[in-house]
Amino acid sequence: MGHSAMYKFFIETYGCQMNAYDSNIIAALMTMAGFERTYESSDADILIFYTCNVREKAAKKVFSNIGLLRSEKTKVIAVGGCVPQAEKNMIFKCKHIDIAFGPSAYRKLPAYVSKILNDEEDRILDVELTQSSKFDCCNAERTVSRSEFVTIQEGCDNYCSYCVVPYTRGKEYSRPAADIISEVKMLLAKGAQEITLLGQNVNSYNGDAPYISIGKPRGSWNFERLLQEVAESDGLKRLRYTTSHPKDVTVGLMKKHAQIDILAPFAHIPAQSGSDRILKLMNRRYVAQEYIDKLNMFRDICPAIQFSSDFIVGFPTETADDFEDTLKLVREVGYLSSYSFKYSPRSDTPAATMSGQIHDTIKAKRLDILQRELMRSQTLHNESIVGKTMETLFDKPGKKSMQYVGKNVYMQSVIVESDIDLTGKFGMVLIEKAFKNSVFGRLV
Ligand code: SF4
Repeated sequence: MGHSAMYKFFIETYGCQMNAYDSNIIAALMTMAGFERTYESSDADILIFYTCNVREKAAKKVFSNIGLLRSEKTKVIAVGGCVPQAEKNMIFKCKHIDIAFGPSAYRKLPAYVSKILNDEEDRILDVELTQSSKFDCCNAERTVSRSEFVTIQEGCDNYCSYCVVPYTRGKEYSRPAADIISEVKMLLAKGAQEITLLGQNVNSYNGDAPYISIGKPRGSWNFERLLQEVAESDGLKRLRYTTSHPKDVTVGLMKKHAQIDILAPFAHIPAQSGSDRILKLMNRRYVAQEYIDKLNMFRDICPAIQFSSDFIVGFPTETADDFEDTLKLVREVGYLSSYSFKYSPRSDTPAATMSGQIHDTIKAKRLDILQRELMRSQTLHNESIVGKTMETLFDKPGKKSMQYVGKNVYMQSVIVESDIDLTGKFGMVLIEKAFKNSVFGRLV
């Protein structure tokens, strides 16, 4: 493409790790097409907003940030990801937007940007959902860091009643195992040491095996098989995955945690609520006791395992008793860390039109109580590792000079002091002090 380095682009990313991953690929594609990346929005000709619609007011936030980041230099504004997918009928109400593209269309972004720059089109909308096309470019050139994400699956068929993912990301689709393994190998060859396998619901992975046996139907791999094969890749030091649906967490997966050394003993298994009545309304397809039993079995099979979760408070009709059940579950499980949110209605989801919507002040009060309980548990976990030596992968400098921050197997933030730059390195750290959100230690 003829623009060479004349035009610079800036990407602003919102939301989940999946989006961070997609953004990385967009940056690689734009660079390959001859555009130059800048990290200063004021210096950019092209502003790309890669968005997430799962949390409340996402669209509004994007629109207001477009206003903030636009400058005299801006020639093209592109908005991608879940917001245009979900809001396709109103996205161009923001008159500054030139291109709106869904999660399946980002491969075509460089071509769309050129069309706008050349005045071939006024506005472009591409929110077609296709299954495999978005993965075609995953092996494109991109900057590789020590810790990398690899998408193994997209979309979701679970239709939890509060969630937009099945509508914005489409049907569940597992990437072929051969593609995943070759991407992992490429990342490891370029220096990655930690890989996180990503998907809305990784444990229902069901992808084509990398070979076709003659005369037999194409084989398929489940998540356990994929984990095993990825774990055996040369040079891999740590393996993670996220996120899981409780109903698909199998005994086989628990056993893999006990067997594979480099598989981090940490599982994010979102409970969402501890009330069976609310879980039913959420269409989660388990009751609280089944969830707790499963986690206990996990601990029996792999004693080192720790858990994190997501919670929604103030789901329609949630009573004080329902909320109490959630607190009870939290106390019983003892999570290492968790994310919790106030329920917020998303358009087109069944829960948005349920009667019995909860007033915001009640939601806020419940969220506060829940977060205190979760924080109490997190602090206890941080304190429990004082005196232990733990392997840490450092990813950035700390707030003070000579400080570096990394993550241990449990994703706890570990801070140390060091004369040498530790960024991108593994180190053994003796944990000396614990705080609410981090632990402090020294290299040994
Ligand atoms: S499992 Fe439920 S919450 Fe998770 S992406 Fe699918 S529908 Fe959404």
